[in-house]
Amino acid sequence: MKAFAKGVRFVLRFICMILTIAVFAGTCLVPSKSRAKEDLTADFVDYIYGTILDKEADSERFGYWYWHLKDSSTTAVGLIDMLTQSYDFYRKNYTPEQTIDVLSQTMTGKPADDTTKQTYVYYLNCGISIRRYLADMAVTPEFAQICAQYQIEPGTITDLDSRDINPEMTNFVKVLFEQMYGRAPVTEEYNIWCQYFTEGKELAPTLMDIVKSSEFTSRCLSDESTIDVLSSVMLGRTADPSEKEAYLGMLDSGLSMTYVASQIASDPNYLSNCSSVGIRPGTVTLTEARDKNPELTSFLTRLYTQFAGKRPSAEDLNSYVSETLEDSGKTRDAIVEMLSNPESMTLFATDDEYLNAVFDVCYGQAAAPEKIEAYKIGLKNGVTRERVLESILSDPAFDAKMSEYGIDTKVEKKVPEKVVALTFDDGPYTDVTMRILDALEPYGAHATFFVVGNRVNNYKECIVRAVNLGCQIGDHTWNHTTLTRISGDAVSTQINDCADAVYNLTGIRPVVMRPVGGSYNSTVSANVGMPMIIWSIDTNDWKYKDSDHVINEVLNNVRDGDIVLMHDLYETTATAVETIVPALIDAGFTLVTIDELAEYKNVQMENGKAYFSIRG
Ligand code: ZN
Repeated sequence: MKAFAKGVRFVLRFICMILTIAVFAGTCLVPSKSRAKEDLTADFVDYIYGTILDKEADSERFGYWYWHLKDSSTTAVGLIDMLTQSYDFYRKNYTPEQTIDVLSQTMTGKPADDTTKQTYVYYLNCGISIRRYLADMAVTPEFAQICAQYQIEPGTITDLDSRDINPEMTNFVKVLFEQMYGRAPVTEEYNIWCQYFTEGKELAPTLMDIVKSSEFTSRCLSDESTIDVLSSVMLGRTADPSEKEAYLGMLDSGLSMTYVASQIASDPNYLSNCSSVGIRPGTVTLTEARDKNPELTSFLTRLYTQFAGKRPSAEDLNSYVSETLEDSGKTRDAIVEMLSNPESMTLFATDDEYLNAVFDVCYGQAAAPEKIEAYKIGLKNGVTRERVLESILSDPAFDAKMSEYGIDTKVEKKVPEKVVALTFDDGPYTDVTMRILDALEPYGAHATFFVVGNRVNNYKECIVRAVNLGCQIGDHTWNHTTLTRISGDAVSTQINDCADAVYNLTGIRPVVMRPVGGSYNSTVSANVGMPMIIWSIDTNDWKYKDSDHVINEVLNNVRDGDIVLMHDLYETTATAVETIVPALIDAGFTLVTIDELAEYKNVQMENGKAYFSIRG
């Protein structure tokens, strides 16, 4: 019986031993009741479970941790780290505040002070993991002391995720996502983006890529919201109302959102914002033509909007700007074309509206009332809008305005190699003047008509047509009086009465005159108030009334800078002109007005001075 009992006890002890070995060797099942009284490691596991999860570990987990701590394959902070990633911890559903409270109690033995708590709660809300807190607390003296108490190695956390390394950057990534994509990043995105910026990727180009991405554009943000988004990300604040207004103005003037971003990036706060986060700011690269010359873009946008009745597309604007920048010489032509196309004409019911729009767009300001009045007179009497436009654009104010945009509209005036000014006196006279204009028109050739004032109203259509073809109207006295025979006052009256008649028909006041018979003296010079245009080739057309004579006189003698005298009163003169015009053009001459001649020869004509030719 005793032996039997001994045998049973042996068997039981054997079973116990087997169980113990099994626990030691394999599953580490150490029932908590069987542990040693003074086992600090077990107490530590209890302590951690108690403070963090407010319960005891089940035996399986207890054993697992116990033996890992025992053989130093894990550390104190390693245990806490794993525990906070467990399902048990997840199920506690702690708020960030509670999380910090619980872990502070565990790792420092006391509640976190307000500053610390605030900091780490903020971190957790920014997308930083609990591991950041554990890594920081693991190296504190308080944690070292607690671990020493249990004779456990405190350990450290060295394998933090990218998102846990720089809280400012992580928060920046969060703001970036919320602003640009309207959502918070997921863990993986936090890590990728923090890594991306840590590797030195620049912010500005990155943002520009995002702005063009489909995820961004599909949000269909208004311009205003997009500006807010860019400001928030780049400056850490939304744009104030005045900035926003300026930025919206840039977009309105045809500049791109990239240009606006470049402006935001030029705010000193951009650099400080980036450096505080540890991100390289980089620069916004302007690639679109429309962003390269804001003044010009703004001008072209206003021009287009006003004269096409709609805003230009970014594509159109880019091509206008690059064409204009490539060849300044085309600017004036392009503007004339845009402003005189029939469709845009219909947008302006009245001449007033048209003129105001042209002035506004070309000079950036309203026209002087007397200028508007003058152009209206011409328009009312049949001068075309296109012609008026050319004259508005030939004002130096236009060149000055264009030079503000970096466009030299003066370079476009290519000086022809050889120029000659055909001039016709004593008209108009429909039968002849119209034939001369017919001869000039196909070649875009210009001439100057020195008209007699009292004929103007009888031959309105001749003068208006001449003006529309780009010809110049000069002053040839009111009634063909020889000026050397009259007083100074009478000279003025003769000239002014003729000039008034021309102005009242065309809105353009003559600026050159020709004395009758080419006769002048000091009294005439002192009172004409205009340059006196004489001639260098006299065809004597009035004397011979012979076309061949006129043709030979001109073609045998013509030189660059000549002024040719003819009269648009004789059919023979018209016949001669029909031959002379193409022949001169064949010979390489450009047929110009007196004003054009002076301009090409760079001569500033003076009032009262006589000019026989203008050769420069
Ligand atoms: Zn005459």
